[in-house]
Amino acid sequence: MANPFKSLRRSVLSKPLMGWYKSVLPGLSDTEAQALEAGDTWWEADLFSGKPDWNRFAGFRSQGFTEDEQAFIDGPVVQFCNMLDDFEIEHERMDLPEEAWAFLKEHKFFGMIIPKEHDGLGFSASAHSEVVKRIATRNVSAAVTVMVPNSLGPGELLMLYGTDEQKKYYLPRLARGEEIPCFALTGVEAGSDASAMTATGVVCEGDWKGEKTLGIRLNWEKRYTTLGPVATLIGLAFKLQDPEGLLGNEEDLGITVALVPTDLPGVDTGDRHIPSGLAFQNGPSWGRDVFIPVSQILGGQEQTGQGWKMLMGALAAGRGISLPSLATAASQVSAQSTGAYARIREQFGINIGQFEGVQEKLAPIGAAAYQLEAARRFITIGLDDGHHPGVASGIMKYHATERMRETINHAMDVHGGKAICVGPKNYLETPYRAIPIGITVEGANILTRSLIIFGQGSIRCHPYILEEMQAVALEDRKEALRKFDDLLWRHVGHDVANIWRSWFHGLTGGKFAHVPKDTALKPYYRELARYSANLAVASEISLGILGGKLKFKESLSARLGDVLAELFLLSGALKRFEADGQPEADKPLLDWIFADGIARMHAKLAEVGDNFPSRFWGWTIKTLTQTGGKRRRGPTDRMNKAVSELLMQPGDTRRRLSEGVFSGKGADPLAALERALAMTVECEPLKKRMKEKDVENIDAAKDAGIITPEEADKLRDLHRAVREVIEVDSFDPSRLEKTGINAGTDKPEKLSA
Ligand SMILES: Cc1cc2nc3c(=O)[nH]c(=O)nc-3n(C[C@H](O)[C@H](O)[C@H](O)COP(=O)(O)OP(=O)(O)OC[C@H]3O[C@@H](n4cnc5c(N)ncnc54)[C@H](O)[C@@H]3O)c2cc1C
Repeated sequence: MANPFKSLRRSVLSKPLMGWYKSVLPGLSDTEAQALEAGDTWWEADLFSGKPDWNRFAGFRSQGFTEDEQAFIDGPVVQFCNMLDDFEIEHERMDLPEEAWAFLKEHKFFGMIIPKEHDGLGFSASAHSEVVKRIATRNVSAAVTVMVPNSLGPGELLMLYGTDEQKKYYLPRLARGEEIPCFALTGVEAGSDASAMTATGVVCEGDWKGEKTLGIRLNWEKRYTTLGPVATLIGLAFKLQDPEGLLGNEEDLGITVALVPTDLPGVDTGDRHIPSGLAFQNGPSWGRDVFIPVSQILGGQEQTGQGWKMLMGALAAGRGISLPSLATAASQVSAQSTGAYARIREQFGINIGQFEGVQEKLAPIGAAAYQLEAARRFITIGLDDGHHPGVASGIMKYHATERMRETINHAMDVHGGKAICVGPKNYLETPYRAIPIGITVEGANILTRSLIIFGQGSIRCHPYILEEMQAVALEDRKEALRKFDDLLWRHVGHDVANIWRSWFHGLTGGKFAHVPKDTALKPYYRELARYSANLAVASEISLGILGGKLKFKESLSARLGDVLAELFLLSGALKRFEADGQPEADKPLLDWIFADGIARMHAKLAEVGDNFPSRFWGWTIKTLTQTGGKRRRGPTDRMNKAVSELLMQPGDTRRRLSEGVFSGKGADPLAALERALAMTVECEPLKKRMKEKDVENIDAAKDAGIITPEEADKLRDLHRAVREVIEVDSFDPSRLEKTGINAGTDKPEKLSA
């Protein structure tokens, strides 16, 4: 029997509210709507809900590596890294050595994600990410070369959407490196906005292997394609048209992806861009009336017009792996090298790591190395669980690359001239030049922060909005109202609970928040619970008051996204600390990370209130989130010192921070730095003894019996080791013809060729 209360509620309240709801819904372009449909959500949805499920969080566990994966990491990955000379690749050869390319193919580095049944390695997301990270600690161009075929490549697209025939033919060839793939989406007009794409495909009949075949005539001008100059197979995105109705009734079929062999007549590849002067293969491509059969459409004829959705689906996972792995590598190398350098480099009679000004830079470097590695491992748990979390991977892509940028800049500052002069002894210059690439590719950062993280997150992660949007769009109005009514009132209940939670936990610092009981880490959980509730309320008010207009208030949306991102990154740090067995020695890192993260979230929520278009609602946000008063303080000088000391002190924490960083042998600059650090630490008591007696000269100290002859030898060895590290390269001018870019710029882009 119908519930009379519900019937009355539906007609008196829900019906008019449904009309209002429709009017404030954001208008979505086709590409936005398809992006929203791609992938799913993971832990970020819990954080967005205002009440994270800590039991679920406790269940997130890394599966570890299989025997095969571990053997690959310890074997071919190390062998490959040993083949790479960063300076030679980036300044002299401008490519990987031939034997390195051959090694990559032979050991199936390009087929890490391709299942074993298709002759690939069938690695998990965590193993794939680990391999990319380790290579990136040695050489960025090599890591990019490995990364691309294992992301959009189009190996992943083939696995997800390819026809059986396409999978059978292409996947083994890709896995064995018999095909070198690339993915060409970006064109001259279409950068961030794929809908501006001018690449076209027209359905027609043509000649294919001597037979008249139904196919597509393609024309394109693409640029920035990684591996494009050496690719044998392009995953090409274009707009498909069918003016003669050969495939059906529709003329504009939308963005479609096809597999285009580069040896077809009309395809022009091979020229190179030189992105930031790095050596990985990247370049433009053109196609003039290139004919392919319909069977080359990725996924076959039924996948026509699904290109954007496919890309978003694949990127939803890929953005959690490729750039986060590169960024983690750069941060770990920065932490390892800068910590050591700050201990061995002396100025004004003491090592520079003792200066507070230097510690202000060292601490965020150490924290980023810990946090990015933590977040990288965290998201691969979700990916290995089968999720394609577009919002979480957007968070990872943006925040990992931004923190990489901050970290490398700090590392450069601490190294001074040592990191500025180019040469084989400079281990920071290549990562430094790679920064803008990480920031720009796979969804440029400003756009990712302004439009994707909260823009999509607020709809994807919200427990009700997406379903409500789907309900109001139903053609059956009765069913629409029934569904909407049910969702709406659950939504209202959710909001009331969050308003209370946000205000109360804000007031009490989360002291009474529901968090795991048997843990010494309760204070951290409480902060996460508090700011999760704060975010839920601030989001709800923003969505309710601004509706579709929020899309154009990018700075507000970005700040709310920053809070969601911070919650996600802090969750990762907490998970890592627990998974590592809660080592007391690492606690200063966790403390620093939480102090910094909380201060950031607090400030961002206050800024949302300050900048809200309505003063009343801005005040309401600040009141309900308790962010209008005092700011939360970030890391203190004492915390900076504690973290800096961990970076400079050989031991377990330093080892954990450097886990997976490739360190060569002999003259390798990172290896030399580590040797010098160990010797510095060993000799510090000797130096102290000499200082106490006011003797600077080693021989004089030996003659005076302050140190033994053996100790004097140690100090001389230390002197040599430190010199080796702090020296920079200089070049015979005749050699400079070889260094730098010598590629010529006669045809930067054949725009109208
Ligand atoms: C080294 C390198 C490798 C690449 N590899 C590939 C590849 O293999 N395949 C491929 O297809 N592409 C590749 N790209 C292209 C890359 O994905 C694009 O450069 C990127 O999408 C941005 O496009 P754009 O450079 O044209 O910048 P634009 O789209 O012109 O953007 C300029 C700026 O405006 C910002 N912006 C744009 N729209 C908005 C908005 N709505 N709100 C806020 N900010 C906005 C962007 O964030 C950016 O900061 C590569 C690029 C580089 C540099």
